Amino acid sequence: PLVARLDLILLGTIGLGAIAWYARSKFFGTSSDKTTSTSSSATINSNTTSKPAPSKPERNFVKVMQQQGRRCIIFYGSQTGTAEDYASRLAKECSQKYGVSAMVADIELYDLSYMDTLPDDHVVFFIMATYGEGEPTDNAVDFWELLTNDAPEFSASDSTDTPLENVRYIVFGLGNKTYEHYNSVGRTVDKHMQQFGAQRIGERGEGDDDGSLEEDFLTWQETMWPAFCQALGVDENSAQSGPRQATFGVEELVTFDEALVYHGEIAERLNSQQAKVVYDAKRPYNAPIVTREVFQDGGDRHCLHVDIDISGTNLTYQTGDHVAVWPTNNDVEVHRLASVLGLSEKLDTVVLVKAVDPAASKQYPFPAPTTYRAIFRHYIDVCAIPSRQALTSLVDYAPTEESKATLLKLASDKDEYRHAVSDAVRNLGEVLQYVMGDTSASATTSASSFASVPFDLIVECVSRLQPRYYSISSSSKEHPTLISATAVTLEYKPDASLERTVYGVNTNYLWQIHSKVNQVDDGRSYPLYSLDGPRGALLAPDASHVKIPIHVRRSQFKLPRNSSVPVIMVGPGTGVAPFRGFVRERALQKKDGKSVGPTTLFFGCRHSQKDFLYADEWPALFDTLGEGSQMITAFSRETDQKVYVQHRLQEHGQQMWDYLQQGGYIYVCGDAKNMARDVQHTFVSFAQIYGGKDEDAANAYIKQLRTSGRYQEDVW
Ligand code: FAD
Repeated sequence: PLVARLDLILLGTIGLGAIAWYARSKFFGTSSDKTTSTSSSATINSNTTSKPAPSKPERNFVKVMQQQGRRCIIFYGSQTGTAEDYASRLAKECSQKYGVSAMVADIELYDLSYMDTLPDDHVVFFIMATYGEGEPTDNAVDFWELLTNDAPEFSASDSTDTPLENVRYIVFGLGNKTYEHYNSVGRTVDKHMQQFGAQRIGERGEGDDDGSLEEDFLTWQETMWPAFCQALGVDENSAQSGPRQATFGVEELVTFDEALVYHGEIAERLNSQQAKVVYDAKRPYNAPIVTREVFQDGGDRHCLHVDIDISGTNLTYQTGDHVAVWPTNNDVEVHRLASVLGLSEKLDTVVLVKAVDPAASKQYPFPAPTTYRAIFRHYIDVCAIPSRQALTSLVDYAPTEESKATLLKLASDKDEYRHAVSDAVRNLGEVLQYVMGDTSASATTSASSFASVPFDLIVECVSRLQPRYYSISSSSKEHPTLISATAVTLEYKPDASLERTVYGVNTNYLWQIHSKVNQVDDGRSYPLYSLDGPRGALLAPDASHVKIPIHVRRSQFKLPRNSSVPVIMVGPGTGVAPFRGFVRERALQKKDGKSVGPTTLFFGCRHSQKDFLYADEWPALFDTLGEGSQMITAFSRETDQKVYVQHRLQEHGQQMWDYLQQGGYIYVCGDAKNMARDVQHTFVSFAQIYGGKDEDAANAYIKQLRTSGRYQEDVW
């Protein structure tokens, strides 16, 4: 190995002050702490007894770059962490391969109006995800408003038509071709940067999450780096050669205050003076839940209705919002990866993981100090498919010539990678087992084979575990402090001949909570999860009640303000989730004496007796809604020819068209790939058949409905 496993062993005492993940300045204990370093890649400053008043972070990124001697800044607009991962990978490549000092920056933390003061020998990267209906990610909203403004105000007062003519930039967009506004954020950023005179280096990159985002990212780099080198006058020899530079320092703590160790908590602990807690995406709430099964189709799918109690918190939601659930990894995959990395015996060892260069990557990738077990179980996505780049970085650590050759082949040969890694849905632990020729379910023969991999490389290669989102299936008007979600378990065999089963991380976690608390056994075996949560915070010792970490995300998917207009909803399968909330809300409005327009719900599933979600609730709700409102069902496995919601929609074309003429709203929820597209085509065809429009005019009509908020989608 180029770098010894574990860069540092901290022998001192971490202790007296509160160790808070986010409170960087308070991090290390007393001046009497002793530190022994086995590597020069990370040094610990143990002399920070004084607590300087926290200064306001500098928002002028050009100033920060100059203070830190950076030539590149890599901004990311990220919702689920992928763009952020890509930004970190590019920063590393910049400095390690080309010797150009780069910093990674959350675009929300800086004021981009200073862009016009960027010297022309500097470069700004934009790694921008497109979200929802062509929108920027939450953290990119300010930048988006600046750039798309008709008269953007950059910092220099003598603004011209081309205020950014000194700026050189690189752009890569992350999108999904299933959506209409494919990569619109990356494209719009590129367009406006050029409009303001900035010069792009290389071609704009675009990645398709519906195809192979990772391959698109790698392919784009093949031409981007040469253009980058030419523009900056650098080459591969510009970097100082030598051992791999660690991005993170990893210290195993020998002495520590157990009370300060994170065992899987997502947010930093609060001190007692912080009375008011604000729960959000950075600080999920451990909410008590109650689950019930809304169908069991006799096969391998279970669908759970989850009631989440948010009473007594400042959390609120609106009908149509999303609830995010922070999952736990199952222990089979935790142990698999730990075993192959030789960490099985050390799972409870306390470690401190910290960026070597805090400006180049996130200072603390997860709460610290923590344990290997908590990292594997709660903080990193051990079930994710590793990228080819990640596999490349592990080649040097393969224990035998044969395993090295196999790993190199997977890393360098796209087809081989697709066959054995991405199509086979193998996670990192499984890939490392595979290259050792070990295909057993547990990691026995391959145990410790990759023990020489420095742990910081694992932190670098494996992305953070992300929350899973669910369309809220309750109405906030009916139940303001109770959020419901409707989740179907995911389980599949990526390749029947391999006889491997892949289990969805979060849905199987929820299913196991349900089985344990309600003592349900379906006679099948699942990978086991630890349900206790950090320090037993989630499961009561007698398993009588359970909590899960959640937060709420606002969505644009909203009923019309005027309840008297017609509403058309199309939601097959779990796509019906938000419509349970919508229908309940409209029934409540009706009960309250409001004028409620015709409410039509198209629902589809396989079988009326097996997977018909909330079958027992609909009749009473539609009774309340009264004449003109109806639920129209499509059961695909009950007839010789499969009938889907689109077909049922076609049968009611005239009626739906009439509703649209009355100002009706269309809502579509569920599968983004096929269903949502087919439903859109069906509505376009209504505009042709019943509205007498030609194809272009019909498409424009539907587009206009979308723009005015009368055609809304909540698809995934
Ligand atoms: P994961 O471990 O995350 O696995 C899911 C991944 O597995 C998928 O991304 C896919 O790439 C892969 N995969 C799935 N099937 C196969 C296959 N056959 N072959 C190869 N790869 C495969 N879900 C609901 O049940 N109800 C909802 O109301 C709901 N609402 C959502 C709303 C939004 C806005 C979004 C973004 C998603 C919603 N989802 C909903 C989906 C939900 O967030 C999770 O993705 C889902 O529950 C699976 O999570 P998991 O952790 O169990 O699976």
